Amino acid sequence: DVLINQIAAGEVVERPASVVKELVENALDAGAQRIDIELEEGGVRLIRIRDDGGGIDAAELPLAVQRHATSKIASIDDLEAVATLGFRGEALPSVASVSRFRLSSRRDGSGHGAMLQVEGGRVGEVAPHPHPQGTTVEVRDLFYNVPARRKFLRAERTELSHIEEWLRSLALARPDVELRVSHNGKPSRRWKSEGQLQNGMGLGDVRLHEALGEDFARNALRVDHAGAGMRLHGWIAQPSYNRASADQQYLYVNGRSVRDRNVSHAVRQAFADVLFHGRHPAYVLFLELDPRGVDVNVHPAKHEVRFRESRLVHDFVYRTLHAALAETRA
Ligand code: ADP
Ligand code: MG
Repeated sequence: DVLINQIAAGEVVERPASVVKELVENALDAGAQRIDIELEEGGVRLIRIRDDGGGIDAAELPLAVQRHATSKIASIDDLEAVATLGFRGEALPSVASVSRFRLSSRRDGSGHGAMLQVEGGRVGEVAPHPHPQGTTVEVRDLFYNVPARRKFLRAERTELSHIEEWLRSLALARPDVELRVSHNGKPSRRWKSEGQLQNGMGLGDVRLHEALGEDFARNALRVDHAGAGMRLHGWIAQPSYNRASADQQYLYVNGRSVRDRNVSHAVRQAFADVLFHGRHPAYVLFLELDPRGVDVNVHPAKHEVRFRESRLVHDFVYRTLHAALAETRA
């Protein structure tokens, strides 16, 4: 079982940033409003993530680190319309199989907390442990028992920047959640919550500014259009913004940060057709559609999605952006 989890870890856990992603997504699924992320040595030595979400019952702790035990999907019908970020029940067992792992939690309404340790996949006993409501996951010495994987880790700086880049994309999508990051004992980043906004719809101006800089924020054109059962909202950089580079392209499908060729092609095409050049467009775009119209279960790390009607999606994105850009030219 440890071996199976380690093999799965090969797909889910590439580097510290993938661990941070999985753990933070779990915190969000648990309804966290505030997430603290402590890192040491680019996350290789330590990743500790504490949230104020719903927590886990002491009795359920062993389940949380068991393969394919997810509390989020009850049936195959749910899988069709998955609304949570996680649903495969693979992340915790995978991470726990390649690190020194500790899960502590207290469920809301429960009197006391509990803790469970896993060392390289060997699960210990649940023990009482004081903890405020919510969950803390601690991952030490990533890949300590898989030298072949450890070898591929990069310099502390590089691993840290992968984590920061992912957190930036998350911060853009969730201005309602407060994120605090520290590295090697020093606070390194704080994203303050911008109050209760609904499912990323009111993407915060402050966060846009913080994440992509003043120049982008000043030249950003707001987009918000619904049609064909979909909604596309967010920002695209106006032609006046010319420091656009490939890494200022943020796309979210139903709140999930993804890479998708179909959609990025539609965006590029709209820019090219209105502005007559094919430079890298810069954008932060949220596409929302019926969850049944999109398959998020394409890859274990869920970076990719597959649209049931990709032509329709392409058309909708293209038309929306074409119209918005054309208006700036008029
Ligand atoms: P998945 O997210 O796909 O369900 P994971 O392996 O990431 O699988 O997590 C397993 C289970 O552990 C989750 O389904 C959830 O019940 C529980 N869990 C994990 N992290 C948290 C958290 N931060 N707060 C509350 N429950 C959590
Ligand atoms: Mg998960």
